[in-house]
Amino acid sequence: MAAIDAGLYRRASGRCGALRPAVFLDRDGVIVEEVGYLHKVEDITLIASAPAAVARLNAAGVPVVVVTNQAGIGRGYYTWTDFERVQAEIEARLLPGVVAGVWACGYHIDGEVAELRKDHVWRKPHPGMLLDAAEVLGIDLSRSWLVGDKVIDIECAVAAGLGGAVLVRTGYGADHEPKLAALAAGCCAVSVADDLGAAVARIL
Ligand SMILES: [Mg+2]
Repeated sequence: MAAIDAGLYRRASGRCGALRPAVFLDRDGVIVEEVGYLHKVEDITLIASAPAAVARLNAAGVPVVVVTNQAGIGRGYYTWTDFERVQAEIEARLLPGVVAGVWACGYHIDGEVAELRKDHVWRKPHPGMLLDAAEVLGIDLSRSWLVGDKVIDIECAVAAGLGGAVLVRTGYGADHEPKLAALAAGCCAVSVADDLGAAVARIL
């Protein structure tokens, strides 16, 4: 079990050498189809291009880091044990592609679980998961990218000072695409791609 406290989860391989760029991936709607509070293995459907996209990043020597809001934990819909079971199955299906780490935040302002009922710096759009991952894995955020399917994912990338972010049209992405225009992206290069495979092709 890799929970840090009741609302936070972190599992990571060790850091190595000099700071390097990474690609942060939102999970639901990016790596797997969005089904709403995914917590059962039988409900997992991988986005078709995901395994090859992760393998491509691996081959390029770019660590892949999953960063996922898991409000369902705070809402009491499922537990970290359910989360780990689903996550293990997703990662098994991604093989030979591998992820360097998984960060998840179960806190939510409307949580049913009393101790998780608050906003948290780890919850996107706040950049806490990315900042912590940068520390643990030795990541150069300014040269890193994020791929997400919601505006809050892109806002998180901007807040963390990433070099770029891609909104994919899978998951909630097609609905969120029109809202991107109002985003003040600063130095973060923001664009839109059909799916994770197209996003990774652009990043590389
Ligand atoms: Mg998502």
